[in-house]
Parts: sequence; C-alpha cells; structure tokens
Amino acid sequence: MKKILAVLLTAMMLIPSLVGVVDAAVGELYLEQSFINDETYVMGDANGDESVDGKDALALKATVAGLTSYDVDAQASDFDADGALGAKDSYSLKTILSGSKKSEDFEIVNGKKVQTYKFTIAGNSISDYCIVVPADSSEEDNTYFAYLNFMKYVRQATGIEIPLAWGTPTTEYGIYFNYIELNSEEGQEIGIDGYRYDVTDGNLNVYGTYRGNGYAVFDILEDYFGFRFYKGYETYQYKSRLVDIPEGVSVEKIPVINFRHARQTFGQYNGDNNEDGVHCGNGMCGHYFANKLNASEGGYSCYEKFYGSKLGPLYSNAHSFLEYWQMGTGSWPDSVDYDKPTEMSKYMYTSQQYQTKFDSGIAPDPYSWQPCATSDTDYNTLFRGMIDCNRMVMSWGRPTFIAEGQTLFSFSIADNQCYCMCRNCKKISISAGEGFSGLYLQLYNRATEDAQAYYPGVRLYGIIYAKDFPKTIKPHKNFVILYCGVSCDNHMIGKEECYEKGGQLNGMKNDDDIEALTYWGNICKETGTEIWFWIYPVTYHYYLVGCPNVFNFYWNMKWLHEEGNVTGFFYEGGGREYNFESLKEYASVKYMWDMDMTFEEYCDIVKEYLYMNYGDGYEELYRYIEMQTEAGDQCGTCFVNNFDRPGDMYSYEYLAEHYDEMRALLETALAKAERGIHKERIEKIIACCDFMGLTSVHNDWYLAGNRVDDYKERFDYMYDTIVKYDLDVFSSDLYTLPSEKNYDENIMKQIYDEGSRRPGVDPY
Ligand SMILES: [Zn+2]
Ligand SMILES: [Zn+2]
Repeated sequence: MKKILAVLLTAMMLIPSLVGVVDAAVGELYLEQSFINDETYVMGDANGDESVDGKDALALKATVAGLTSYDVDAQASDFDADGALGAKDSYSLKTILSGSKKSEDFEIVNGKKVQTYKFTIAGNSISDYCIVVPADSSEEDNTYFAYLNFMKYVRQATGIEIPLAWGTPTTEYGIYFNYIELNSEEGQEIGIDGYRYDVTDGNLNVYGTYRGNGYAVFDILEDYFGFRFYKGYETYQYKSRLVDIPEGVSVEKIPVINFRHARQTFGQYNGDNNEDGVHCGNGMCGHYFANKLNASEGGYSCYEKFYGSKLGPLYSNAHSFLEYWQMGTGSWPDSVDYDKPTEMSKYMYTSQQYQTKFDSGIAPDPYSWQPCATSDTDYNTLFRGMIDCNRMVMSWGRPTFIAEGQTLFSFSIADNQCYCMCRNCKKISISAGEGFSGLYLQLYNRATEDAQAYYPGVRLYGIIYAKDFPKTIKPHKNFVILYCGVSCDNHMIGKEECYEKGGQLNGMKNDDDIEALTYWGNICKETGTEIWFWIYPVTYHYYLVGCPNVFNFYWNMKWLHEEGNVTGFFYEGGGREYNFESLKEYASVKYMWDMDMTFEEYCDIVKEYLYMNYGDGYEELYRYIEMQTEAGDQCGTCFVNNFDRPGDMYSYEYLAEHYDEMRALLETALAKAERGIHKERIEKIIACCDFMGLTSVHNDWYLAGNRVDDYKERFDYMYDTIVKYDLDVFSSDLYTLPSEKNYDENIMKQIYDEGSRRPGVDPY
C-alpha cells in the first residue's frame, strides 16, 4: 500500500500536514479532527522500487512506446494527470533526474501540496462546476449538509473550493443535490437511508430523501478520493493524480440494515467547532454520519433534518422503566391539577413542572427492580410516566419525526433479569408457557397500542434479555424488539461449537440464542415487527486484555441478519483502545452498511485499518490477531467478553508456546512504524501482549528458572510502558498496577487478583 522513497522521507516529514499528526492523547473525547495523508506513491518512482532513477525513466519510456512488459505505477508516472502516459510524462521525469525539479513539485496546487492532484467530472475540470441545492431548501436541510461536506473534503483533497448555487447553476455544469419527498414513488423506493447518483451530460445528480444526499457524499469521498473516516478524530486519505467521476456512471445504494449505531470513537471530536457544519456537539460529531450511522440513544441526540434526523428513542434509551417509574410516581407542583387536562397537548405543562414531577418521583434500584407485568396500577404508572417524559422533552422544542418512523419511544425493562414472580405474572410466564419474554412483551404490546391514541403511528422499542420465547403472544407491529447479545463471544453463532463445551460463566450458549432468534425472526416476519440486535464488543473493565473475537462479528452479524431477520445493530463498544476495540468498531460498521460484503472483504477492511492505525507492520499485526483468535479458540470454554474474566478468554498453553513468536510480530511492526503515534500504539499492544504472555510463562520461565532474565526484561518493559502511558488497567480503582515491580508472583494475580478467573476455575 505504501511506497516511500527513502531519500525523500526527511523532506516529507517537514510538510505541515504530516508532522504533528495526532499527538493528542488517544481515547479522549472531543479531539480535533486530524487529517492523515498517505504517501501512496512517489512521483517518478515508476517501477515502485522506492527510488527515482534511470530505471524508472527506462520503464516509463518503454511503456509509452507501447511495450507492456514493464509493470509501471501509472499514478507515479502520470505527471500531467491526464489519465494516460505519454512523452510529456517522460520529460517531466527527466526534470527530476536532472535535479531541476523534485517529486513533490508535481503535487502542488495553488501553492499547497494536495492528495488529489486533479478532479474532473465526465472529464470536465472541477472549475466548471458549482454545487446546486434546491431553490426551496434551506441551510437546515440535509442537501445543505451534503454541500458543506462535499465542499469541505474536496477542498481538503484538491485545494479547490467549489461554489454554491441555489436552484440554478452559475457555472457550465452542476453537482446537484436533490431532495426527494419520502412519500413520492421514488422516495418509497430508496427509503430514508438510500440514495442514487449519476453523471449525465456532464452533471452529477444526487438524490435522497432524509439522509441519502449526505450518505452519497461520503461514499463518493471514499470510493473516488480515497478518504477513510476510520476513527472519530482521524481522517485518512490516499493519494491520486486524477479523480474522475465518469459520464454514464449510475449508482444506487439502499441499505438493508435500518438501524445502525456504534459507541466507540465515531462520535468523537471537538463539538465546539461548527465552522463546517459537521459538528453538532450532541451525538452527530466526528465520523458518525460519515460512517452512515443513523441512530440515537435518546437524551443527547439530534433530530434535525440537517443530519437527516436520527432513528431512535426520543428520550430515555434502554432501561426507560426506571425513568418512567420516577416520573409516574412523582407529584405535580401544587399549582397543577394533573387530571384536569385530558386532551393531547404537547405543552400542557411547562418543562419546569414536568421536571418538578420527575424529581419528586421514586427512583427504583436499577439492578434488582422490575415492575409487575400484570398489575394495572404499575402499568398506568409506567404509561403515564412515558407520556409525561416525552411531553417534557417535546416542551424543550426538540423536533420529532413520529409519522415518518424516525422517532421512537423507549418502553423497556430495567437492566436486570429479576422478573416479577407474583401469582398473576407466574400464570403467564410459567403456567401458560409464555416465558419471561412473553410476560413483558404483552406489557410492551399494551403500551404500543395505547400510545397510538396519543401519537398515531408511533413505534415503541424495548429490550428482551430472556432467551425463552412466548408460546402465543406475538409482538405488536409498531413495537421494535431490542434483543441483547449472543451468549458466547468465543464461538460464532450458527457454527454449533458451544454446545459441547458447556457454556460460559452463566451457563448459556449460542444454541439458546439460535432457538429464540429463529422464533423471533419468523414471528417478526409474520407481524411486520422489526428486531434489532444489541452487540457487545465492549471491554467494560479489564483494559489490558482484549477479547479475541475480531473475526466473530462478521459471522455473527451475517447469521443474525440472514437467519434471525435482524434489521438493526446497536454496537456497544467501549473501554480503552489499547488493543483492537476501535478496529472492531470500524469493520463492524462497514459491514452494517454493506451486508453483501464477503468475509475476505471484511478481512481486507481489518488489514486496511491496521495499516492506517499502526503503519507498515499491518501484516504482522494481522497475523498477531489471528494468533490471539487461535489462543481464544483453544481455551476450551465459552465466554462473553463483557462479563467473563480475562483469565478465562485465552489458552495459557497456546500463549506460553507462542509468546516469543507473537511478541516478535509486534516488534517487527514496531520497527516498521514510522509515525510517532503508530509506535506509541504498538508499544501499548506489546505491553498487553506481555501481560498475557508473562501470565502464561511465569511458572516455566521464572519460578522454574528456565528464562529468568528474559522474564524480567519483558516484565520491566510491560511495567514501564503501563507507567509511561499511564494506562488504566481497570475501569475503577478496584484493580491497579502494583506500586512496585514484583517478579515472584504471577502478574495476572497481582493486578486482577481473584477477579481474573471465574469462580471455581483452577488459576494458572
Ligand atoms: Zn407481577
Ligand atoms: Zn461458546
């Protein structure tokens, strides 16, 4: 992917866009956006041997003369950026060889070094174009968002600013962003997320309803300009001589996953910088939209049409029964008689009155409380609480898109499985065989039906944790099921590997999900209900230990969509980025947008991420991940990465045997890395590798005295690196790095103590 001319390297390091790249602390919220420019090729290095010399001139001359035996890098040789190689290109190369010009002289536009030397549409120069937004649109529309981003990134890539026109172009050709009514025939075809674009008679025409114009822009930026929005605060770009969107091109994209959300880095970078209109400070920051994510978690979401609106709950997200109970049990201020106004009105009370009611309510225990699922009193409290919470939010003036299906109300159990066991509830869950999922589903259905009288067409969504499924109760078509997590992260769903191995910490295995999800998938098809799936790649606590499941997400998501009828993914990322957390996010999110992707393409995305994030040692890092995966597979048990213990997720035997090999891969990657930030990231991985490695070889290398010096050396590196970068080893102060180095006791035990293994498992 990268060919660097050694002699030019020093000069390149002086280019402002390359130096000072992301030296801010990684993982912090609200970083500035950094652009990282790939040295995809060096002008004049026609044969790609990392030097510009007579051999390049010979190869280019021969190719120009029609000889095909030379493998010439067309980009590095196309000096005049006309898409073909000719005598002029040969001449330009000679000017470098004679010393009158330098390679980078051919990459300057308007006095600036650019990544895209020339941009044309249908072969026409971009200077003949303006961007045209509809005459009747405004700066609050997604067409304007599309304009701002296209202009911003084309300027970044080419150094050229494309002007804006309202309704009628001011130039010979136009880049048209067209708003399509959702209710029109075409709008119904492409839906809320889809887009079409074509180049006809020299004009680039883009069509979308809510989000399509914006999404088309980011796909064009990726596909043609080589931008990669690969983490929230870093934007990557490859280099090219000529970008042309050719006459006759015609693209249609309609995603099959309707709800796409990820918590990790994509929402990050400075929310105060509104200059380019891509920041909003409330959930649409960073590269969230650029990665075609479209969801919200309530509270801090933005629903503006500028961002195409977001799909998700208006207020509370996952465990809304807690808030609704608090609101529903609260008292109105003395001046308000609750029962008096009965007609539906958004502004019945002031925000302050709702807030007062909320504040005076009863806050239940989130980890042990669930409401009774059959009591009318409990139901009324929750339902009234929901309506009042939503009215409160609407009184804040937040826009809603209920009729269009974008705004949902959450109506969902608390974060525990302490279901009500009263007589009437047990009659349904146990005696009637509806299970706990059926018991709470009938409550969800009731609220969904009742809510229609207040907000016609509204959808509610709620969590299902129980792996059972109802005998007769079917989901309301306006309810969205949020099904949470697979039961095992070591094995892939649908591969039937869990069953023999006996399940994870809670004794569950993927087969439980398969049975339940197959049921839900079929019943949802019948009722028209959507089922969205909550994935847990998150590392909640043990930050030194990454879960070895980078490849699992492809197969799990594929199965869930194809067999489970899943049309939404909530990617719960989190933790630190010491291992491969943000890599998992990037690959999974790419897959959500393009479910036709093959596994090989998914692996290529993994590799490309490694290249962008760590540099030229990406193949070594990829091999390291494969070995980690193997160590996970050989651990002989199931696990879930958000609950199970670090000591349970790897085969110690495998790690001990391959520790040297795995570390050597990382050392090679470190040696190949050229950028400071890449080195830093790899050093952190090495510290984590050492942590698991030293855990595995402590007996053999140190206690048995076979490699004491090696042990100490690696231990010192690990310890010093954790200190150097101030790495958090755990999510709280419960576990910390020991204040002094100690070789005598196993490091896993020293840091994570009893928390390192699940109870009853023989340590080490
Ligand atoms: Zn009950
Ligand atoms: Zn398993």
